[in-house]
Amino acid sequence: MPRHRPANPQPYRYSYYSNRSISAPRPHRKLHLFRLGMAFAVILVGYNILSSKSSHAGNQQPKAPLYSKSQTVCLDPGHGGVDPGATSADGTIVERDINLEVAFTVRQILNGQGYQVFMTRTDNNTSMPNGDRYNFCNDKKATILVSIHHNFFSDTSVDYDTVLFYKSIDEGLATSIVNATSSQLNIPDNGIAQFEDGVLSESKMPAAVSEGFFITSTHEYNILTQPNSTRLDDEAKGLANGIMNYLRDPKAADAAVTPGAPVLTQSGE
Ligand SMILES: [Zn+2]
Repeated sequence: MPRHRPANPQPYRYSYYSNRSISAPRPHRKLHLFRLGMAFAVILVGYNILSSKSSHAGNQQPKAPLYSKSQTVCLDPGHGGVDPGATSADGTIVERDINLEVAFTVRQILNGQGYQVFMTRTDNNTSMPNGDRYNFCNDKKATILVSIHHNFFSDTSVDYDTVLFYKSIDEGLATSIVNATSSQLNIPDNGIAQFEDGVLSESKMPAAVSEGFFITSTHEYNILTQPNSTRLDDEAKGLANGIMNYLRDPKAADAAVTPGAPVLTQSGE
């Protein structure tokens, strides 16, 4: 939009400066403003240098770190983009979408408790091969990796919580997550199972794939489709509790592992 201009632009003739000859050169207002601006910028820069020196000298309290905990969590919402994962029987609930929604809430809870969280994807349009997922978390040097999925089965009456692991260092984390999440969701705890999955086998830190509940379950469908359903928030709370229980005391979590977990050759979704 063009700037408003008076129809007859002769402001000086009727102004307080009316004694100034119209033909006399007007003060270079733009240059003057530029000089003023430059002077202000120099003062600002000088102030910043001085204040940073004084804080280095210890005159000020050091800034509190953004995250109070030194451990970090890499969350990996399963599937994405062209890969929807599993769906409810009627196709309206898509694993790709609820994995991300749960991950966002887990991140929010963990951030609130002072943990920094990395996420392999933050939208539903991104298609990601497993290599991109574990490489991302390895590059971030995250303390742990948690992949968020939901299970799938043809029998709609089946519903339980299970967590997959691959490496021996994964077992404590997987156990901690399945205990906390099944309890929060109030569904059977099917324990942990070993499964060779790239995200689990190629990650350099303790890692776990959470299969929170069965997306194909009629029971879950009825809860998820209630108005103002808190099902996914409840799951996120369980996941966050399991993660934090592990991070607070990894040795205790490892010691709580029941040996002899079954080995899966095929997982749900
Ligand atoms: Zn999945």
